[in-house]
Amino acid sequence: LADKEKTNNVAKIKVVVRKRPLNKKELAKREEDIITINPNSSSLTVHESKVKVDLTEYVEKHGFVFDAVMNEGVTNDEIYSETVEPIVPIIFQKTKATCFAYGQTGSGKTYTMQPLPLKASQDIFRLMHHTYRNQGFQLFVSFFEIYGGKVFDLLNDRKKLCMREDGKQQVCIVGLQEYMVSHVETVKELIERGNATRSTGTTGANEESSRSHAILQLAVKRLIDGNESKPPRLVGKLSFIDLAGSERGADTTDNDKQTRMEGAEINKSLLALKECIRALDNDHGHIPFRGSKLTEVLRDSFVGNSRTVMISCISPNSGSCEHTLNTLRYADRVK
Ligand code: ADP
Ligand code: MG
Repeated sequence: LADKEKTNNVAKIKVVVRKRPLNKKELAKREEDIITINPNSSSLTVHESKVKVDLTEYVEKHGFVFDAVMNEGVTNDEIYSETVEPIVPIIFQKTKATCFAYGQTGSGKTYTMQPLPLKASQDIFRLMHHTYRNQGFQLFVSFFEIYGGKVFDLLNDRKKLCMREDGKQQVCIVGLQEYMVSHVETVKELIERGNATRSTGTTGANEESSRSHAILQLAVKRLIDGNESKPPRLVGKLSFIDLAGSERGADTTDNDKQTRMEGAEINKSLLALKECIRALDNDHGHIPFRGSKLTEVLRDSFVGNSRTVMISCISPNSGSCEHTLNTLRYADRVK
């Protein structure tokens, strides 16, 4: 019962918004910061500049409330404490949890996501060495991306992989490299290797990586009867997902066919993701994970006892107003 209570104390879905500071370019252009945040009431306001038909300017205010809102002064450590830290212990209680970073390109998704698996694995090792000492727990890391609806292994030279379902609601990416790790240093090396392997295409790293979803998974497994010669059994899993730039889903009218197709795929996956997260709140509802490759891959994290954290990243500058409102409306629907 104690374990069950521990699990129940962590919200099933948590939506957090993070605002990044204005960058040098935006400051040089004297762009305004249009976001005000009130951490005490977990609310924020977007101040949108508009022009009336008679050309007079006015400001329209849009208010939003989330589980937590983080202003530009908040550190990555504080983000970790608010989002992933409470989930780590329940991974040992057969829970699957997913942490998403959503937002337009340049809003801080990668900046926010990169340190999280490292801090989480630090805490997982601590639990394995103290609370669960000598109980046969092991930690495994895998890292892959979904680009244009296809899966590529980021820890194996971007090898293209296929997916299989075993009929017991378990998804398996056939041939995905999983590394057993016993030190945070190794986790760090694997993350760096995977990031270097992310799709760079011909137009430069940032441009292309904004069109793929990067998925890093930490799987806690346990030896069966302490037997090292048998494959260990999966206990719980923590997935970190650095989503494709949300504005890419609108690339469906681009002149380039490839870009159009990728845009359509991203649009489809972000819509399917929203529907799947919303269905989590309804325990017996149908979960529409067949809607996209992303949600199919995450199928096992949407069924049974699971937890989801959505970190919505927003840019503060007036030029990003439309994208920011889109991101906040998406987050609002998930909540
Ligand atoms: P995205 O992955 O959403 O495209 P990035 O994480 O690459 O965006 O962030 C874009 C730029 O802004 C990077 O140079 C990053 O270092 C910087 N940045 C993002 N968030 C913050 C933040 N909270 N504080 C300081 N710099 C940030
Ligand atoms: Mg990024």
